[in-house]
Amino acid sequence: MSAVFNIENLVRASVKDLKPYSSARDEYVSDGTKMVFLDANENPFENGVNRYPDPQQRSLKSELAKQRGVAEANILLGNGSDEVLDLIFRAFCEPNQDNIISLPPTYGMYKVLSGINAVENREVLLTPDFEPDVTGILNAADENSKLLFLCSPNNPTGNAFSEVRITQILEQFSGIVVIDEAYIDFSGKEGWLSKLSVYPNLIVTQTLSKAYGMAGIRLGICYASQEIIAVLNKIKPPYNVNQLTQQKALERVVRKGLVKEEVNQILKERESLIAALEELEYVEQIHKSDANFVLVKVDDADKRYDQLLGAQVVVRNRSTQPLCNNTLRFTVGTPEENKTLITILKQIR
Ligand SMILES: *Cc1c(COP(=O)(O)O)cnc(C)c1O
Repeated sequence: MSAVFNIENLVRASVKDLKPYSSARDEYVSDGTKMVFLDANENPFENGVNRYPDPQQRSLKSELAKQRGVAEANILLGNGSDEVLDLIFRAFCEPNQDNIISLPPTYGMYKVLSGINAVENREVLLTPDFEPDVTGILNAADENSKLLFLCSPNNPTGNAFSEVRITQILEQFSGIVVIDEAYIDFSGKEGWLSKLSVYPNLIVTQTLSKAYGMAGIRLGICYASQEIIAVLNKIKPPYNVNQLTQQKALERVVRKGLVKEEVNQILKERESLIAALEELEYVEQIHKSDANFVLVKVDDADKRYDQLLGAQVVVRNRSTQPLCNNTLRFTVGTPEENKTLITILKQIR
């Protein structure tokens, strides 16, 4: 299928014809020499944020490119993954005509974005062991199926999907496959970035909200072919990543060792949480996790949720999700928070 893939056939006509807004900061890039910038109607008095931010976030992209082994032209940054995912919808899906495929139980934003963008969401349930149903997906797809969302490791189930199944989908689905790797840094697995040059229909999204500990600054990352990135660049708001976010993100991303250390601590805490859960008689199943949370089947999720809440511990009740009857999702906290949680879990009967 790679041979016949042509992005031109997938981009919305209105986007294909679009001439993007050209901002002052796009037009002239300083080469480091001191210039007098009188082109953007900014207030000239320095306060750290009086200038528009770099619309292409070059310093941050350059560091990410280096660390992840891709070119800057393979990266688009957004105001959280939420913006990145929305841009992907708006670039490829014609409202009231095209459809996407999502695989519940999964991250809720794919469905919300399909609703916002008036794009049909075709849901193909995961198998009982939480893997993509490849045959079901291919049967559900038609010529208007533009996007398929694979969340791996998956939220809320926690598992990374089988490489064989993902490969089958990449090779046989005729639209774009978006692999949401929000939790990849907690997984021992390599992820799919190194396959960008093999699969022209692949988009990988990541975020600084989870392992990198920066949910508050809103920084989402999209990796894809230069062609796909060029299309998304055409429709993104010119200054979608603000100056403070660019600075904070760069400061954090260069501290690779610190992030790794925190991830290792979280993984260690996850294992002690799992060990404690295994001892509880009301816990029926602990799902395998490649992420910083654990999905747990209990005897009565509503009751256990309320008991925890009564002890000031907020977890996520996922029981309304398909295949997730009576499940709670526990995010792994600090060692101290984890200790508190375990104490309370033992007290409630
Ligand atoms: C938390 C999460 C994100 C992060 O979204 P941001 O907008 O970058 O904070 C993305 N995808 C999944 C599956 C998540 O669970």
